[in-house]
Amino acid sequence: LIQLIRPMDRLGQLYRSIRQALVDLDQLVELLAEEPEVRDRSGAVPLPQGPGEVRFEAVSFAYDPRHPILERIDFRIPPKRTLAVVGPTGAGKSTIARLLFRFYDPSEGRILIDGRDLRDVTQASLRGAIAVVPQDTVLFNDTIGYNIAFGRPDASQAEIEAAARAAELSGFIARLPDGYGTLVGERGLKLSGGEKQRVAIARAILKRPRLLILDEATSALDSATEQTIRRRLHEIGRGSTTLVIAHRLSTVVDADEILVLDRGRIVERGTHAQLLARHGLYAGLWRRQAAEQERVG
Ligand code: ATP
Repeated sequence: LIQLIRPMDRLGQLYRSIRQALVDLDQLVELLAEEPEVRDRSGAVPLPQGPGEVRFEAVSFAYDPRHPILERIDFRIPPKRTLAVVGPTGAGKSTIARLLFRFYDPSEGRILIDGRDLRDVTQASLRGAIAVVPQDTVLFNDTIGYNIAFGRPDASQAEIEAAARAAELSGFIARLPDGYGTLVGERGLKLSGGEKQRVAIARAILKRPRLLILDEATSALDSATEQTIRRRLHEIGRGSTTLVIAHRLSTVVDADEILVLDRGRIVERGTHAQLLARHGLYAGLWRRQAAEQERVG
């Protein structure tokens, strides 16, 4: 029995760590047959078409009831606009993204997309409408082409190649032994953090999602590539309502609104210029990062 339990336990851990990384997971959930945290309720309907408005209404959440993580979070992202969430480590930034993707349900309050409570729509339709560029992309043990097309299995080879070009991956793929047919993942070619992130970006470009979640999308890239990628993301972002979970403030300057989160509460909000003028937590973080960058050169 022990021999059976150990691998199951490992799978459980793997599942949890992947979920933490915010991957499109419905397939994997089934595969691992673990009790999912949320289920479709009876009568759940597909998310209807809509412009992509996101609303958090007095959302509170705790992983463990003794430790509240988010407290009465309110915000609205108008269609095709960008909201960035910043704040110290552990503030609850990634948790906001996980709730929007409905890995968990709020303990109080509600989350709406185009006026629909996430609890009333099927998870498949919700996840079909969202693309996530996570901090750490998990690749499937399959070809790099399959990994890019994941989320849009009907994509043509030409569309896959166009997405790879837009994500600055095509030169890299051209140098691989089997091109788009090269096996990647644990049992294939190991990609660097930046390469994996570009696969996630290509996936998002291909998916043209109603909502885009960027979890610090440019963290693993060198600065020249980062510039280009940021421009590309901006272009996808123009067609999608975007939530950016940011650690480096340089990635949020252009956001339509920035929320500053501290210990689960919104302590400041506004545009970059408004927040600098407040001389509060954001202005302090900004000064510290600017000084840091000068030191590093
Ligand atoms: P960082 O900038 O370090 O990524 P963050 O602001 O994104 O931090 P979250 O990942 O949202 O923070 O985590 C908020 C709090 O929730 C942290 O205290 C973290 O330890 C806790 N937490 C995160 N995931 C879980 C989980 N699956 N179970 C229990 N607690 C968790």
